[in-house]
Amino acid sequence: MLLKIPKWCLECNRYITSLQTSQSPFLCKYCYNQLPAINDRICLKCGGYHNAVNCRIEWAKNIVDFSAVFPYEDPVNHWISSFKYSRNIIYGRLLRNFVTNWFETSLEKLTHVDILTPVPMHFSNLNSRGFNQTSFLIARQKRLKSFDSVLKKRNRTTQLAGKSKQERQGILKNVFTVKEGIKGKNILLFDDVCTTGQTLSEISNMLNIAGANRVDCLVLCRSMRFN
Ligand SMILES: [Zn+2]
Ligand SMILES: [Zn+2]
Repeated sequence: MLLKIPKWCLECNRYITSLQTSQSPFLCKYCYNQLPAINDRICLKCGGYHNAVNCRIEWAKNIVDFSAVFPYEDPVNHWISSFKYSRNIIYGRLLRNFVTNWFETSLEKLTHVDILTPVPMHFSNLNSRGFNQTSFLIARQKRLKSFDSVLKKRNRTTQLAGKSKQERQGILKNVFTVKEGIKGKNILLFDDVCTTGQTLSEISNMLNIAGANRVDCLVLCRSMRFN
């Protein structure tokens, strides 16, 4: 006989009874229902809260369709920090479950996509962290084949958090290279967090130069402070 392992909610630490289950195996119903949501009114090009027809966001100029699973708010931002910086893998699994569900419920956004690729990490960061957390988050979705090999991060970059837009642009200039032929392909670029959009801007620009037909972006979290 299989023993049923008791489950505790990762957010409130309470035992999840059969009446308190949610769509997430890691959260109770109450915490799940409190989660911040991306509403339908976001700009389809940059993910900000404005009308897509008038989107003048410079960094999104090469992006056709932008999606985010969450806005960058409590408690999701804390989960991401625990996963990325404290290497708490259980929060990675919690977040990955939401990403996997996004792929299952967003099929209309995937039909034209040829290649799904995560934003790469530099190999020295890969070695110190042991894995690319961005690849990890899309590893369980079954709708698209993911290619880590499309992009390469050539230089190790300093932390972008806390840097100004100009500083970020300088740090990211010529950092990424496109490794494989992507001519005529429709790309879905995945990143964990979009803050100022500079990383997505740099990569979508490079993919366009390399001949991509179209670049869409999906992020786990979109900061709404930069619109
Ligand atoms: Zn809870
Ligand atoms: Zn916009």
